[in-house]
Amino acid sequence: MKPNVQAAKEALSHLDIETSEAAIRSKSRDFFWYSPVLKARLDHVEADFVVSPRSEAEVIEVLRTCYAHDVPVTTRGAGTGNYGQAMPLAGGCVMHLTHMTAVKEIAPGRVVCEPGILLKDLDAACKEHSGQEIRMFSSTWATATIGGFIAGGSGGVGSCTWGSLRDLGNIIRLRVVTMEEEPRVVEFRGEELARVSHAYGTNGIITEVEMPLAPAYDWVEMFLTGDDFMEVARFAEELANEDGILIKLATVFEAPIAKDYFQRVAPHVEAGDNVIGLMVAPHSMDGFLTFLGRRPGVKLLYRSDETEWPRAPGHVFEYGWNHTTLRALKVDPAITYLQVRYGFPQHLELIEKMREALSPEVLQHLEVLKENGKVMFAGLSLVKFTTEERLDEIVRLHEEAGAMIFNPHRYTLEEGGRQSVDDRQLAFKREADPKGLLNPGKMIAWDDPDWDYAKMYAYPKMQAAE
Ligand code: FAD
Repeated sequence: MKPNVQAAKEALSHLDIETSEAAIRSKSRDFFWYSPVLKARLDHVEADFVVSPRSEAEVIEVLRTCYAHDVPVTTRGAGTGNYGQAMPLAGGCVMHLTHMTAVKEIAPGRVVCEPGILLKDLDAACKEHSGQEIRMFSSTWATATIGGFIAGGSGGVGSCTWGSLRDLGNIIRLRVVTMEEEPRVVEFRGEELARVSHAYGTNGIITEVEMPLAPAYDWVEMFLTGDDFMEVARFAEELANEDGILIKLATVFEAPIAKDYFQRVAPHVEAGDNVIGLMVAPHSMDGFLTFLGRRPGVKLLYRSDETEWPRAPGHVFEYGWNHTTLRALKVDPAITYLQVRYGFPQHLELIEKMREALSPEVLQHLEVLKENGKVMFAGLSLVKFTTEERLDEIVRLHEEAGAMIFNPHRYTLEEGGRQSVDDRQLAFKREADPKGLLNPGKMIAWDDPDWDYAKMYAYPKMQAAE
């Protein structure tokens, strides 16, 4: 059926609706431009209108109305996602959850809130209420929403201790609205959470979340340096394996990332310095300094509670995760990145192998990650981009060596994930979005169940570039 955008807009005109060209353009975009491959393909994509519901009842109204008029709906938290997750490939409506920011309940170990609250505001509310904080957040803590993190993110600051978002216990409950003639509200826990978490809003809209909390600390944020890259990587792993030392972040940057791309750190390091970024709980600092004292190859450069630099570096976590790529891109627009899983127990061996084969074209940026109780690394490697063919070859070299790639140069769930259909997400989409109007083009299995992943998927209904 052809979408009747005009009829949907008129029916929703009593809501907070934006039709200005500039607002629509900016709210149709996310951080897709990190990828030269996606930049070339998605730059023209634009919604027809943006609506910002104030409540779950208004979300239901938007979905019911757009269903009636066959208008696609792409949900937006804050639009900090990569890979065009929040971009409306087929146009239609962008539903921006910016007003849905209420914190509904805070109890020991858990918080219930609306999806549009910023991670930093949620943290502040939990801290003020009872000295608690969210266990993990994306490094876009200051700008991203909790709903967008659950629907589009995977883990981040805190994952060195708590694992990834998809691990059991890291989301308690989600409340979800379907896109049917009469939208339903469903609540998911346990096994059912996998239906909609990290599903890019392709099969339901999250209107309430319940997340676990941990005690809040004034984390000591640090930079350390070391000459030998593998020694520095082992340092980060061994620290994460120290059972009595509580950390929230352990990041490793191969030289010369810090010298070349971290403007406020650069005056304090040499080009040959490999750098570690850490967050350690204040009560663990004695243990940490003892740990450090046993490793003369690594030196403390900066600690947030003591060091005064003329230009303070800000949060150390805003150098890690995908902020590393952002900082590098600001200095050198030819930089892009890859997302690599260096799984236990081959993680260090694989890192060494890839570094020997590809540095300095590919520089190692590692994040300590816990998976099933084992410490391993996520790589968000910096890549000096030359051509799409070379990028594909670099991906292939990793895969052949046994390092799994979550390809950030693709806009579909499957290609950015494990290159396979998630049957739970697909089955729920059949139930919850029978017309296929939610964030179209992002789930290959919905459009083309026989797709073989040998080449990049091209969504056939993608808006044509002018
Ligand atoms: P958006 O970008 O608005 O949305 C993300 C996806 O979720 C979209 O598909 C959207 O349609 C969908 N969505 C949003 N809200 C809902 C809802 N209520 N119901 C259903 N679907 C919804 N990611 C990480 O996981 N870890 C990191 O450490 C990290 N670091 C980053 C650093 C930088 C500098 C950048 C640019 C990105 C980073 N990201 C990271 C990606 C992104 O910032 C996070 O995933 C972030 O939490 C997304 O939140 P958002 O509100 O911006 O979501």
